[in-house]
Amino acid sequence: MTAAITLQDCQALDRDDPLAPFRDRFDLPDGVIYLDGNSLGVLPKATRARLQQVVAQEWGTDLIRSWNAHGWITLPQRVGALIAGVIGAEPDEVVAADSTSVNLFKLIAAAVRMRPGRRVILSEPGNFPTDLYMVQGLAELLGGQVELRLVERDRIADALTDEVALLLLTHVHYKTGAIHDMRGLTERAHAAGALTLWDLSHSAGALELSLSADGADLAVGCGYKYLNGGPGAPAFLYVAKRHQDAVRQPLSGWMGHAAPFAFTDAYEPAPGMARQLCGTPSILALSALEEGVRVMADAHMGAVRAKSRRMGDLFLALVEQRLPGTFGIACPRDSARRGSQVSLTHGEGYAIVQALIARGVVGDFRAPDVLRFGFTPLYLRHTDVWYAVDNLAAVMAGQEYTERRFRDRAVVT
Ligand SMILES: *Cc1c(COP(=O)(O)O)cnc(C)c1O
Repeated sequence: MTAAITLQDCQALDRDDPLAPFRDRFDLPDGVIYLDGNSLGVLPKATRARLQQVVAQEWGTDLIRSWNAHGWITLPQRVGALIAGVIGAEPDEVVAADSTSVNLFKLIAAAVRMRPGRRVILSEPGNFPTDLYMVQGLAELLGGQVELRLVERDRIADALTDEVALLLLTHVHYKTGAIHDMRGLTERAHAAGALTLWDLSHSAGALELSLSADGADLAVGCGYKYLNGGPGAPAFLYVAKRHQDAVRQPLSGWMGHAAPFAFTDAYEPAPGMARQLCGTPSILALSALEEGVRVMADAHMGAVRAKSRRMGDLFLALVEQRLPGTFGIACPRDSARRGSQVSLTHGEGYAIVQALIARGVVGDFRAPDVLRFGFTPLYLRHTDVWYAVDNLAAVMAGQEYTERRFRDRAVVT
């Protein structure tokens, strides 16, 4: 039997942690252990100052001149280039714009146009709802030209037939944290003549990605999760350079036009990634996102991933040590196959999460029974993991979750 893990072990890991200095770049509330950075990342200190500057100077004083003077007009590309560094893409393969849902619509529609004669969008049951809903909306719009086909993850490779236009997958599953083999599935998709669209919402800023090397065609992802861009931050989209001039997305707004300020009647898509834009970008939101991504871009992704795996393993080991047999485990135990989260299951999951939040340990709940804990290496310590499990043990020992006030479901879980 291996020796029990102690608080001192966790303190030693913190002393040796090369990422420890990053914690000071975030504004963390007192008395909170925040294990929900996979849903809404915390506020970087630089963001507060940046927003004050943008509001007071750029908007408040310089007004319309700021589109040129402060480079507002190229902010989607600048933030995109920063994100590209985090996901293993070229700087001119990514732009920041719109929401993940809207970007999914643009790229799913574009992919269907790029594979005439094929109507199947292949995905998996239990994929993040918006990914499936956006395909359903497009299928309704286009009538019989699009069919959403869902197959279980272990059968995806075999389901890549010559009917498939697009393989649409979330790289790290939002509920289980399971990672898809991006390179392997992309190869299979290409062999079948299909394109791939990866949703990186739980991957960007969480693990090492190499979109270019893996041959990915298209991707989207969230700005407000591991990239710390703020609530409702703009999302990003990626198009491999080889496809950029063939991709025609249907939301042909003027910001994607080749010459927006020529004000001509006929739409002509801009070259490169600019055609992925639609309307006027939200400058306040993009400015906040830029600061969030900048912190991430300063960190070595290999170190981020190593610490993320270590924290997830530590959490699972401590749960087994302190609460043997209490929870089911809904994520891969092998950290190489797991994103930056741990998912436990329990019939009282919702109330347990609420009782933990009342103790200052913030995780979240995903129906029907998943307790989800995200590990964000830039601002969490190994001792936070220790105290999180310590609080979980107290919630279970005192049956705190049976209290009435923890049982009423709020709108957002
Ligand atoms: C969070 C998340 C989204 C969110 O999409 P929005 O348009 O920002 O609401 C999309 N896909 C996945 C996989 C997510 O985890």
